[in-house]
Amino acid sequence: MKDPILVINCGSSSIKYALISREPDAPRLVGLAERLGSPEARLETTDTQGSKREHALPGADHMAALEAILSHLGDTPPVAVGHRIVHGGERFTRAAIIDEDVIRSIHETAALAPLHNPANLAGIDATQRIFPHLTQVAVFDTAFHQTLPPHAYRYAVPDSLYREHGIRRYGFHGTSHAYVSRQADRLEGGTANGWLTAHLGNGCSTCAVWEGKSLDTSMGLTPLEGVVMGTRSGDVDPGLHAHLGRELGWSLDDIDRLLNKQSGLLGLSGLSNDMRQIERAASEGHAGAQLALEVFCYRIAKSLASLSCALPELTGLVFTGGIGENSPLVRHKVVAALPHFRLTLDDAANTSTVRGACQRIDSGNHATPRVWVIPTDEESQIARETQQVLDARA
Ligand code: ADP
Repeated sequence: MKDPILVINCGSSSIKYALISREPDAPRLVGLAERLGSPEARLETTDTQGSKREHALPGADHMAALEAILSHLGDTPPVAVGHRIVHGGERFTRAAIIDEDVIRSIHETAALAPLHNPANLAGIDATQRIFPHLTQVAVFDTAFHQTLPPHAYRYAVPDSLYREHGIRRYGFHGTSHAYVSRQADRLEGGTANGWLTAHLGNGCSTCAVWEGKSLDTSMGLTPLEGVVMGTRSGDVDPGLHAHLGRELGWSLDDIDRLLNKQSGLLGLSGLSNDMRQIERAASEGHAGAQLALEVFCYRIAKSLASLSCALPELTGLVFTGGIGENSPLVRHKVVAALPHFRLTLDDAANTSTVRGACQRIDSGNHATPRVWVIPTDEESQIARETQQVLDARA
């Protein structure tokens, strides 16, 4: 591998990594350490040929897992480390070299991402100890959305909440929306301007991208706002909290748990947060799964329609994420709910997409917007942004 960059995505009990060569399209080493801190901790590594191996790491913490990962990186050491950081607040509009000041800012923003930023910091700390001489770069999920204009990022609440407490819309999944919209531009020969992107995985969000800049997105202060997700409700009436508190005596923690962990596809179906299972059960007549599917798709279409207000012109729609890349049914239903966009699907193309490939699935009429399926690659976007920071410093 030539001058590889190690990409680290650290969760509270997991570390996803990828060692990515500077040569475009070169095979990469990837892996996932999970259940860290428990007796079942384990590491799954995948080599450049795609073969997987499992390694038990009983009781391993982040540090021990990173040491194990290091021992599987082969003989080309990384030249830098790129960290996925969930929340960069308003300070970070692009990736930044990690120093004391950047670490302090990530700490300060932790109130806005209490589950994610502390885990990201644990990853930085362990990686700095293991690679004390390597440049480490923070790539923020929120940075791509820092181009939102105030009329898109402000909530209609008193100004002091924004000024004193940073209450505004930030948006997430920025690396994915940035990556797929850039790919879409490239696939259209660099002449495309306006994309609606739908990242549909366990977490789901939509984004309006004009000339490479995010102008609006469905997630807000937290990754709960917007469309329906696996276990997250997406938008609800903000009055719901007061109602549940007053009428049912629920605490804020109860409500938070309900909306983040027990809602979405899982809550509506009473069955599962997994779209494959929802689709299977819906086709067998399960009423809850059928409703979950309908609400999920309608709400995505509704979100895309509202985001279209941000675009002077619509070049097309991009589907990505586990559901967006793999579910012809969801794509069909979303497009069918947007007839006024004059989107037309090629049904044969929609149902025969190949896993991992970028494919155009509209009918090919030049007068109507495009519809693309583009596999996301957040790791390669993080490696790219890390490289840009290194190049800018050189
Ligand atoms: P994450 O957001 O955790 O990265 P993914 O992007 O992998 O998650 O997306 C996971 C979702 O993708 C799950 O709901 C899963 O059911 C769905 N999915 C994966 N393959 C298919 C498929 N063939 N058809 C429908 N849904 C799929």
